[in-house]
Amino acid sequence: MQIHSNPELGYAEFEAHKNVVALLRSQGINVTPHAYGLETAFEAEYGQGGRVVAFNVEYDALPGIGHACGHNLITTGSLAAFFGVVGALKKHGIPGRVRAIGTPAEEGGGGKIKLIDAGAYKNIDACLMTHPSTLFSFANFIVKTDTVQWVVPCSLPQRKLKAYHMARV
Ligand SMILES: [Zn+2]
Repeated sequence: MQIHSNPELGYAEFEAHKNVVALLRSQGINVTPHAYGLETAFEAEYGQGGRVVAFNVEYDALPGIGHACGHNLITTGSLAAFFGVVGALKKHGIPGRVRAIGTPAEEGGGGKIKLIDAGAYKNIDACLMTHPSTLFSFANFIVKTDTVQWVVPCSLPQRKLKAYHMARV
């Protein structure tokens, strides 16, 4: 998807947004581009009824050093998980919905705060994301919705990961 080779800063992820929306549509997924009043946010959904599981799709980069934080990998991982759930729902014909939420400006831009305020995480049963790291393996950005509980800031250098604190919102 060429996101790594074309790093774009927060709220200016125009090519990433366009590429991911096109990919989702090419697979027959309903997508709302420019979602929740943000030019580079999107929302995609598949399925009917049941519970809703969402995956955050990040794609912004850092000034000067590009995708040092690996948000291009988050794009890939979250979309792979999304399509995996789509495949499972199709195969088993069971109720349930899966969403991919394109979340701009994670690198200090507060993109998810704007999305939360705009209601993007209402009526979601669980929201997941993974983040690449050189230090240890963990899954962060696990946001329990209805009462959105946790947002982990992502703008610190990888070597300071241990200093991350979870900010309650
Ligand atoms: Zn990051």
